[in-house]
Amino acid sequence: MIIMDIETVREQRLGIMGGTFDPVHYGHLVAAEGARYSFNLEKVFFIPTGHPPHKPDRIISEPWVRYKMTSLAVASNPFFCPSLIEVERPGLSYTIDTVRTMRYLHPGKRIYFITGADAILEIITWKDIDLLLSMCNFVAATRPGYCLNGLNEKLNSLPDSFKQNISYMEVPALAISSTDIRQRVREGRPIKYLLPESVEDYILKNNLYR
Ligand code: ATP
Ligand code: MG
Repeated sequence: MIIMDIETVREQRLGIMGGTFDPVHYGHLVAAEGARYSFNLEKVFFIPTGHPPHKPDRIISEPWVRYKMTSLAVASNPFFCPSLIEVERPGLSYTIDTVRTMRYLHPGKRIYFITGADAILEIITWKDIDLLLSMCNFVAATRPGYCLNGLNEKLNSLPDSFKQNISYMEVPALAISSTDIRQRVREGRPIKYLLPESVEDYILKNNLYR
């Protein structure tokens, strides 16, 4: 049996927190920090989607604007790092391409893709899920309003070797969503304490979501 100390494990694992981040909020940050701690991740890369294929029905802020807000949000955590890989890649942003790029840029590291419970339910219906699960682990953070029961049924249709690559993590239940934040801004209601102050300032100064 090979026994590795915790520092060695940490050096071998990277996290990806992907999202539209329109805007990034404390739900994202708490999930990423929870995963970093629970899975001994060396770093968590926050990767705003360039052109999301799964959100065609609403207008999304420019990729650079979402990247800027993400950079502001993660600046105070030395383990968090904003990444431009999806923003700079032309065409629609597919997770499989992002995981491939991360594996290429960080050879030998195990990738942990962090999502909310709602996102993992969607992800396991994607056509390339088998390939994706052979390339990285998924960590699903529980999110209020999303029941994990349906997930077990869907998971049963996957081979055991892939199921092993999906883990769950309880995070303090945060009923925060970007949709709610955008609506609050539109209606002139407060967004304070739902997201970092630097991001709130950026939204107000740049008149976003009006
Ligand atoms: P929108 O309302 O626009 O869909 P969102 O709040 O869901 O925004 P996304 O950018 O879509 O944010 O989410 C990125 C990832 O973060 C997804 O995997 C999502 O499940 C997860 N996530 C979002 N909010 C939370 C939260 N409050 N707790 C845990 N995970 C979350
Ligand atoms: Mg969402």
